[in-house]
Amino acid sequence: MTRAAEPSHERLKQEFDQLLQRLSRTRRRKDDPLDAQAPPARKPVYLLLRDHERAGRLAQQLAFFGLNAQPLPMAGALLAALAEQLPAAIIMDVDFDGPGGGLRLAAQAQQSREQPIPLLFFSLHDADTPTRLAAVRAGGQAFLTGTLEASSLLEKLESISSTAQQEPLRVLIIDDSRTQALHTERVLTGAGMLTRSLTDPIRAMAELADFQPDLIILDLYMPACSGPELAKVIRHNDRYVSVPIIYLSAEDDLDKQLDAMSEGGDDFLTKPIRSRHLITTVRNRAARARHLKARMVRDSLTGLYNHTHILQLLEDCSFRARREGQPLSFAMLDIDHFKKINDRHGHPMGDRVIKSLALFLKQRLRKTDFIGRYGGEEFAIVMPNTALDAAHKVLDEIRRRFAEILYPAQEGELQCTFSAGVVELEEGLDALSMASTADEALYRAKHAGRNCVVRVEP
Ligand code: GH3
Ligand code: MG
Ligand code: MG
Repeated sequence: MTRAAEPSHERLKQEFDQLLQRLSRTRRRKDDPLDAQAPPARKPVYLLLRDHERAGRLAQQLAFFGLNAQPLPMAGALLAALAEQLPAAIIMDVDFDGPGGGLRLAAQAQQSREQPIPLLFFSLHDADTPTRLAAVRAGGQAFLTGTLEASSLLEKLESISSTAQQEPLRVLIIDDSRTQALHTERVLTGAGMLTRSLTDPIRAMAELADFQPDLIILDLYMPACSGPELAKVIRHNDRYVSVPIIYLSAEDDLDKQLDAMSEGGDDFLTKPIRSRHLITTVRNRAARARHLKARMVRDSLTGLYNHTHILQLLEDCSFRARREGQPLSFAMLDIDHFKKINDRHGHPMGDRVIKSLALFLKQRLRKTDFIGRYGGEEFAIVMPNTALDAAHKVLDEIRRRFAEILYPAQEGELQCTFSAGVVELEEGLDALSMASTADEALYRAKHAGRNCVVRVEP
């Protein structure tokens, strides 16, 4: 029975994937800012796997995400392709063209290049240390083993190929001496970082919320409070438990340094310090913290922001909207009768619907909107600079379009709708009350018969 069902299941999966692909090509909203309209032409990614069939499949999957992956069947093809166009990255099987062949080929491809090409190695089986070492020596920036899934590959590719164009690291400097703070700022901005300095430690929490630094440099002795005291205050807020804090002080008593470190600090640098030492320490710590944070705030199924983070974004955005006198809207979405989809078509199909709605929202909302997965089949959307009317219109259009999608399923086709509640920021509402008001509106939408968007009038 199950054997017979398998091929058709495979076919459905393919059809579904094709649908997602078409979905991902649908046009963005007309009123999007120009920069969001047409993504710049992307450089290809060269894909060299020992298993050619796998390479072909993977290239197809990567295409959903707008990535132009070109499977290359042999060494000669790579060299020819490189002569024609430099890729965004090369994905190389360590055993391409025989055991260890990929390592040699990659080293050859990198030879005498001014700028090394971002290179990611893959091994079907777990690799031993000598192999990994050889991969590092051949210029590999990442190493993946196992099934080589499109989504994890994409994540890695993004992290290695975009390091150059990544947003600058953000460093907050808290020091009561303006001269010292300015000096540190000058050194770090010279190295391409974005800095802000604060001479009054009492304002630290507001500054943290506003600037969202990747790292904090903290003075040890200040008149209003000591560095370690401030570090404790910062650590008391869950949001900032993982932001690295580095002390920078002339204090050279090791015991005092260690005491300070035990109060929520991550490192201690003693003045005077060589610029290069400061830059390297700050850059390494800040980059690693940013990387970890990126993993912490995302939902693994959809890649959207998770529950905690979308609420934090709502808080940040409402703070900013108030200060700048701009409107802000917030919406909650929930798929209708989702339990029935799971019951009739199975949990994996339910997951696919969740993923497709996530993708649909990403395609149709503005780049400046924040989308989160609030819970199982619930989503939350923060829309900066958007008043209630506009937010309602956009959501209703998305609702209408989403309801038109027919998903291929085992028994015929499956159609699916969502309900939503939307609210605008106003006097007396904070982030949490906005969320609960939107939730109440969503509840009303469900009671009004589902497949509709209910707006909360101010
Ligand atoms: P309503 O129209 O009132 O929203 O009905 P509903 O069936 O969508 O709502 P309900 O909250 O009763 O059921 C939601 C179901 O979603 C229950 C849960 O099993 C399922 N679910 C939650 N998370 C996931 C998930 O990650 N994947 C899948 N496939 N199902 C999930
Ligand atoms: Mg539901
Ligand atoms: Mg629900």
